[in-house]
Amino acid sequence: MKHRILLTTGAIVGIALIIISLLFSFKFSFSSNEEKIIPMTYASLFFVPIPIALGLFFLKKRISSKSKSEQVLSGKTSSAQDKIASIERQIQNLETKNKKNSIIIVLGIVVLAGVLVAYSSLNFIERPTQQILSSGRFIVENLKGDTIKIWVTWHIPKDVPLQVTIINSPDLPDERINAIKEAIVSEKTLALKNVFLNKESPSEKSTYYEGWRGALKSIAEQKTEFNIPTNFVVTTSEKSIGDVIIILSTAKEADGTYAFTRTIADDGANQILKSFITVFDVESLNNEELAAVIRHEFGHAMGLAHSTAEEDLMYPTFYSNRAFISECDLDAMLSLYSGSKSAEVVCRH
Ligand SMILES: [Zn+2]
Repeated sequence: MKHRILLTTGAIVGIALIIISLLFSFKFSFSSNEEKIIPMTYASLFFVPIPIALGLFFLKKRISSKSKSEQVLSGKTSSAQDKIASIERQIQNLETKNKKNSIIIVLGIVVLAGVLVAYSSLNFIERPTQQILSSGRFIVENLKGDTIKIWVTWHIPKDVPLQVTIINSPDLPDERINAIKEAIVSEKTLALKNVFLNKESPSEKSTYYEGWRGALKSIAEQKTEFNIPTNFVVTTSEKSIGDVIIILSTAKEADGTYAFTRTIADDGANQILKSFITVFDVESLNNEELAAVIRHEFGHAMGLAHSTAEEDLMYPTFYSNRAFISECDLDAMLSLYSGSKSAEVVCRH
């Protein structure tokens, strides 16, 4: 029975190791990223039964081999009195061997549990924040499918909403979809210190917008040649119906970029007909990063090209914690929709 006790102790120690490691991970990562809890729970649910199953498997195997040896020995006992001593020695040897095996199995379980915890920690708990995000390609195509280098805008009446459809193929949870929606429909503003934004007066703050609806509403009253869209209806669907289609993909781009925006336009009228935003490797982005990528790509979907200023949202690379819609992006929108024939975002310092 001793080895059984040892095995149980081993399994308990293994489970305890896993729980302690997870508790430590919670302590360090809970406040920074709550979404880590779910994969961690899955990891623990998955890894806890493995050492137990292995322990039970070895235990069963060893019990059957022990009873087999006992059967052989009992056959021998009836043969002669002088053999009793040798049989007792054999039993003693067998017990010592059993004890040794039990210790080896217990150590094996503990080591295995440790390795599994370390593995799960590396894969699920430590997910570093992306420092700089690269948005990737942005192209405008005409109806023949040729890439065209012209300025384009939406031509939609003021009251007609722009339909935005999210195709959530990896089936991300609602809170992630909400992060995408907020980047489009939020009307929240925030003040960021100029010191982070490479501007002339570093002590002052500038106002930024979290979502395109709020940002565009702030300039909607100004007279422009084409109506600036401010009314967005964002839905999830399996079909690519709508004006702006956001495709979430788990596939990685070979160059490490996170998105690709392809706009279809009527080149005779400089009119955007449809825009496709593909987000790559979406599961590796946290909510903040995902929102930043969408904010940048949605700027392209509105007709904007890249920015001249490194700190701007529309620059090809950006920091997720600073990628908000700036006055400079809105100036570019105003001039594009006023018929300036340039989609480039030019920021003045
Ligand atoms: Zn871009």
